[in-house]
Amino acid sequence: MIKRTIEDITKMIKCENDLSAMKEIVIHGVSIDSRKISAGNLFIPFKGEHSDGHRFVEDAINKGAAAAFWQKDVPNPPLHLPIIVVENTLIALQELARKYRDQLSVRVVGITGSNGKTTTKDITANLLSLKYKVQKTEGNFNNEIGLPLTILGLEEDTEMAVLEMGMSSRGEIEFLTEMARPEAAIITNIGESHLLDLGSREGIAEAKLEIIKGLQTNGLLAYYGDEPLLTKQLEKFEKQIVKKTFGRNPKNDLFLVEMNQNDSGSTFVINASETQFFLPVLGTHNILNTMAAMAVANFFGIPYEGMNEGLANLKLTNMRTELLQGKMGDKIINDAYNASPTSMHAAIELISELPGYKNKILCLGDMLELGPEEEVFHRKIGESIDANKIDYVFTFGKLGKLIAEGAKHSFPVNRVFAFTEKQPLIDELEKLVNEDTIVLVKASRGMKLEEVIAALQ
Ligand code: ATP
Ligand code: MG
Repeated sequence: MIKRTIEDITKMIKCENDLSAMKEIVIHGVSIDSRKISAGNLFIPFKGEHSDGHRFVEDAINKGAAAAFWQKDVPNPPLHLPIIVVENTLIALQELARKYRDQLSVRVVGITGSNGKTTTKDITANLLSLKYKVQKTEGNFNNEIGLPLTILGLEEDTEMAVLEMGMSSRGEIEFLTEMARPEAAIITNIGESHLLDLGSREGIAEAKLEIIKGLQTNGLLAYYGDEPLLTKQLEKFEKQIVKKTFGRNPKNDLFLVEMNQNDSGSTFVINASETQFFLPVLGTHNILNTMAAMAVANFFGIPYEGMNEGLANLKLTNMRTELLQGKMGDKIINDAYNASPTSMHAAIELISELPGYKNKILCLGDMLELGPEEEVFHRKIGESIDANKIDYVFTFGKLGKLIAEGAKHSFPVNRVFAFTEKQPLIDELEKLVNEDTIVLVKASRGMKLEEVIAALQ
């Protein structure tokens, strides 16, 4: 993590007070949470609408922070403490990260896309670790605060950083990629999340492609080639970069030749190697995420043939297509982390194709923030469920009910149940689960379907 004297810092960002008396103080790492201060940290308070982190500056310094930022317009700066007065603490954090990144020799991989960023980040970091000293974004720290914090957490001797970049509106990815200046970038896919803000899938594709703006010349862009919108809009960019597509379609640079799934994961073969790979997580969508990661690892000199070793110990961040044991001997796929039509289709496909279960149950809830077309999206999900492959459809929530309505086109009525409360849903579900059962639980995070999972376990 960053280790600099206050004198160094005055050269990196614009400071508004006289720091000559404390220029030798060394700060080691930054923290925005006074409860989690480690000795030597620079504490960064934010002034929000409802709360003001400046209240905790004194506390942070008492707990061992070496110094703290202080925003100029906040009254009564405690000038007896080691504080660095700046115009705006968030902008100062971002500027510090930008300068620090420029001082490092680290090579950066930037990852964006509608679904699968965190997963692809974890897989990419695993593969690159076969050859390099790697650091990655922790959890989901992918925004205008999380990314600078991640950058400031990089060690000077880290060779590669794998950074997740999220967005909810236009311009955000551009901002993040220009801070991180990646040498390789991944666009996992284009979905429907944030349709409300971006207006259309075209708008979403444009926003993701902003990642190219910070990509280094001759850098790699690995993107989902089965998405025509990306290919089409890429024509607009004149920058000299290496493009590699991945997907199922044999027209892609990397494509799937063969795959098989079971409870413990997937085996697959891609065109670029004879090797049969084993991925210890479920779902074709995760094979696609892995292929993106493989393209990047290969770009950095890691041969495909050795990649199984990097996949073997993979552990995904919580609630992303996790296979759990239910209390009735059943299995549960926990995908309650989030949901959009694209990821919903991916998860339904996964359970539909998974061999070895006689009783397959979907438990699906509302997909939030989809904009004016939200009802159509839910109905279409319902209509797409194959009654030959799925036995029961349970839905939760107002929009979820429309999934049930869609499903009723092909399912008998006694196999589709819509609920607006969790307890009756759980009671009904418990009557149906047994050793031959697998249940997929998925909805937007706000629906808290992990409560259903907890009841089934
Ligand atoms: P967020 O925007 O919240 O950061 P993310 O893009 O980081 O999400 P993950 O956390 O990796 O995505 O995965 C979230 C869910 O998206 C998974 O549980 C899975 O259902 C789905 N998903 C993951 N990868 C794909 C993919 N390539 N295509 C479709 N759906 C996917
Ligand atoms: Mg994420």
